[in-house]
Amino acid sequence: MTSSAGRTRFVAALALSVVVAACGEPPEVEVEEPVLAAPAERAVVHELAWGETFGQVLAERLSWDDQQDLLTAFRRQGNPRSMREGAEIVFRYAGSNDLRGVDVALDRDESIRLTRVLGRWESSIVQTPVYTDTIYFAGEIESSLWSSVIDDPGLDHLEPRDLPKLVDALDKVFQWQIDFSRQVQLGDYYRVAYEREVRPDGSMRDGRILAAEFVNVGTPFHAIWFDPNDDGEGSWFDLEGESVRRAFILKPIDFARISSRFSAGRRHPILNTIRAHRGVDYAASSGTPIKATADGVITRRGPNGGLGNAIEIRHANGFVTRYGHMSRFASGLSVGSRVRQEQVIGYVGMTGLATGPHLHYEMIRNGRHVDPLAVDLPSGDPVPAESMDAWLSEMQPRRALLDVLPPPGLARYADAADVTGDEASSQTPSGEPGSGSELDRPR
Ligand SMILES: [Zn+2]
Repeated sequence: MTSSAGRTRFVAALALSVVVAACGEPPEVEVEEPVLAAPAERAVVHELAWGETFGQVLAERLSWDDQQDLLTAFRRQGNPRSMREGAEIVFRYAGSNDLRGVDVALDRDESIRLTRVLGRWESSIVQTPVYTDTIYFAGEIESSLWSSVIDDPGLDHLEPRDLPKLVDALDKVFQWQIDFSRQVQLGDYYRVAYEREVRPDGSMRDGRILAAEFVNVGTPFHAIWFDPNDDGEGSWFDLEGESVRRAFILKPIDFARISSRFSAGRRHPILNTIRAHRGVDYAASSGTPIKATADGVITRRGPNGGLGNAIEIRHANGFVTRYGHMSRFASGLSVGSRVRQEQVIGYVGMTGLATGPHLHYEMIRNGRHVDPLAVDLPSGDPVPAESMDAWLSEMQPRRALLDVLPPPGLARYADAADVTGDEASSQTPSGEPGSGSELDRPR
């Protein structure tokens, strides 16, 4: 195998790219600076006690005039009255008793720094420095993605409150391919390289998936981060350079249970007649936000028969989506308004013919209803042609980050694929819905 040689080359390339990125120009030979003995600085940390004010703490250490001058400088950046119990104040002394600076943490990412310059106090906002690292994790689904990541002993060194961010990140990059609440199967497998910004206390400020693989019932999905302009506005692509995004998100509600699927004929619970259910129902509590599943223009908005308060959106490529039973519409929108993918357009309710609060969601392509859960959705934009060279040179090393993790047991998934039941087969696009059936009437 050539992979280990390849990986060594990549590690060298990565190390180089880190250096280049850090200084923005070709690396220079570092020369040790002569060390000059700096005057010793003494830091005294004071944690604000319950009921104590910043002014009281200052009064113990500064003259009245000095306090007022310092507070004036402080107020240019923040409000001393908003400081809470436990707020950390650092007094920095030069020598024995010469107060030269005060740092007040506003939150975990920012402090107000007060510095004495020519006898007057000046203030500025200082960002808490972070360092960047990459963590790697992999796992097999035993019950849910959530529990696999949260209970991963390899992630014990992370703050517990940061673990859900990893689950969210995976859900976000694969949301167009995999519905983690519905499609994930026992034995599904993931490998992830995740870049973090870490605070000095070890907590995570921000993070992003660099490369991820999710094997869902034997089918591998990949997401490779690519940012051609290096401006943070990148996106994730699969190994072929196709966007992981689709023109449509899979579901218009974040956390909801599918209470009724698309079908050519079923008994209507209120009308008690057999008729087609030409959409998907999501049961959710009243008031749950409903999101447009793709960019588009609102073509209809208002009461619409059995659908109750409904919105219809026209999208590119001959698609229309329809959302029914809303309790109310999002404000600021009307017929003709442009909406963005994931923009909130209204809220779950039970207007029209509904036995309980839910969203009825329809998708129509070229005038015919299609099953939103089975239709082959148009993809987002692939890697732009002018960035193709950069993509080709970056994609393999990024994907190879995953090779530090054990590979998924593909043989086992091949077996699993043979015995999957209805749930798995329902993911694959079925044939055209029974358009010739007399049950398949428009509402
Ligand atoms: Zn419905």
